[in-house]
Formats: sequence, C-alpha cells, structure tokens
Amino acid sequence: MVKMRAIQVAGPNEPLELVEKEVPTPQRGQVRVKVQACGVCHSDVFVKEGSFPGIQYPRVPGHEVAGVIDSLGDEVHNWQVGQRVGIGWYGGHCMVCNSCRRGDFMTCSNPQICGLTYDGGYAEYLVVPSEALALIPDSLSPIEVGPLMCAGTTTFNALRNSGAVAGDTVAILGIGGLGHLAVQYAAKMGFRTIAIARGKDKQALAQKLGAHFFIDSDAQKVSDELQKFGGAKLILSTVTHTPTISAAVEGLSIDGKLLIVGVSPEPLSVSTTLLILGRRSISGWPCGTSIDCQDTLAFSLLSGVRSMSQTFPLEKAPEAYELMMSGKARFRVVLVTGK
Ligand SMILES: [Zn+2]
Ligand SMILES: [Zn+2]
Repeated sequence: MVKMRAIQVAGPNEPLELVEKEVPTPQRGQVRVKVQACGVCHSDVFVKEGSFPGIQYPRVPGHEVAGVIDSLGDEVHNWQVGQRVGIGWYGGHCMVCNSCRRGDFMTCSNPQICGLTYDGGYAEYLVVPSEALALIPDSLSPIEVGPLMCAGTTTFNALRNSGAVAGDTVAILGIGGLGHLAVQYAAKMGFRTIAIARGKDKQALAQKLGAHFFIDSDAQKVSDELQKFGGAKLILSTVTHTPTISAAVEGLSIDGKLLIVGVSPEPLSVSTTLLILGRRSISGWPCGTSIDCQDTLAFSLLSGVRSMSQTFPLEKAPEAYELMMSGKARFRVVLVTGK
C-alpha cells in the first residue's frame, strides 16, 4: 500500500492533523492529481468546524488545488497524465437535478465539493471527477494558481457576470484575500474602479492594485463618497461586517447592484425605499465551474492579475489556517506540497 502525507480533520472542531493515508486510486471517470500547492480559503472553516450539512469525517480540506495529473481512471478520454490542472470549490455535479438539466452546474442541488464532500488538496494526492479539472497555462506557477481557483474565480466570475460594462463605476468593498484580486480584475476589465478599505494606509496598495480611486471607510462616509462619482453601478462586497455592507447600498446609482461574495453569518439591513425608487438590487455570486476557473487563469495570465500570497509547507497547515483565520494574511495563504 503506497502512503502519502495529508492534513485531515477528524470531526467538527477537531485540530488539523498530519496523517499518513493510502494514496487514492481513481475510479471510473476520475483522475488522480499530484498536488503541488493548495490555497487555504476561509470556506475551509466549514470542514474545520463542521458547519456545512452532511460532512463526513475524517475529511481532508482544500479547494484551491494546483497539481499534475498522475493517473487516469477508466473512461477518462479528454485528459492526459502529465497535464497541469487546478481544482476549485466546484468538484462535480449530479447531471440529474433540475439545475443540471438546465445546464447550470454551479447550482447543482447535489453538488460535489472538493475538500468538503470528498477529500481535497491538503494532501500529496487527491482523486477528483474529471469534470472538476481546469487546465493550467504553462507560465502560471502552482503558487500563483492556488488562490485563483476559488478567490480569483469568485471575484473574476462575479464581475464578468455582473452586468457592469467598460467605463461603469465599480466599487470593491474590502481589500483582503478576495478584494485585492477583485480590484485588479475590475481595473483590468475596464471599469472605473474604486477601492474601499479601512485606513489611509491602504491607499498606496489600492493604487498599486490598479484602483483609480480610493475611499477610506474609517475617515469618510462611503455612500456619500460614492455619490460624488454619481453612485456605483456595482458594489462588489468582499467583507463580512454586515453593517458596513448594508450602509454601502446608499452609494449605489440608479439600477445599481450590490453583489456579495464574502460570506457572513449575520443578516443585512437595507432600506426598501432605496431599492424600490432607484431599482437597486442586491444579489450574491457563487464561485464558478471548472471552465470558469480555466477562464480565470487565462485572463489572469493575459492581464497580469496575481494573488499576493504567503506560503507554508503542507505540514504547517495548522499555522497557515490560523493566519488565514486571524485576518492578518497578506493576502492569501498557500500550502506548498511538492514539485
Ligand atoms: Zn474558497
Ligand atoms: Zn445536479
């Protein structure tokens, strides 16, 4: 039996522990991927704390995977051993639910999620359905790819499906793990990009990321500042503090949209009059399928968008996770597993 190193969670609120596991064998329609890097995402908290329905333990987290195909199961015809691939949150779909029957695989009601419904990328190898794979362009490194598989795809895909067009005023609320990517994408997509963050000291970073304007939410009222630009056609919220998100709605233009990608357990509180009279709207956006991930990688390569990341070796996953949870990571955290 060939063994590998993996970081698993034995049950809800149990520690991340380094274990030896059997290297998994790909079944029909699956491929085995030798992991090179895996990002640490805030959604890994679902596995760590058991806050997602139906998780079976022990479970290996990790849905920002970059690696190389190492073995093919039967009936995998469109992939080859040696290809460089990434896997994000989307980890396969059921093909029979109503969403799948409509071709909307991201909202599958029986989703497979990498690192959640099956073992993920905090390991030397993982096995995934072939439909979960995104092809990695040659010149992106595994460490660059990891965070783009979830944080990158979420922000890129939300922005490109938002309805905003070139020249529109787009505000990015928060410059953290998601926000520092969202600012880059928004600027590269041709939006008039406003970065909003707490503290004047973030202004230089915002400009470096490509923001055309900066609002310091500690010193300025965000909605008033946005209205000086005529209101934002789109506010992409990457933060979790719901009073901040709710207050931003007043900064939307007529027909403006608040689009939420940062997960928060608390509800929003928003004036219905603001929504009705200005036809404003609020919606959310889930990450994307494997082809969305592939598009994200291609656009990132083309436009120079990259994650700023801190790296840890696989066995330091507990420290990496703590840094991510502290909110002090600059800006994504990536586990480096192999060559
Ligand atoms: Zn994620
Ligand atoms: Zn389905």
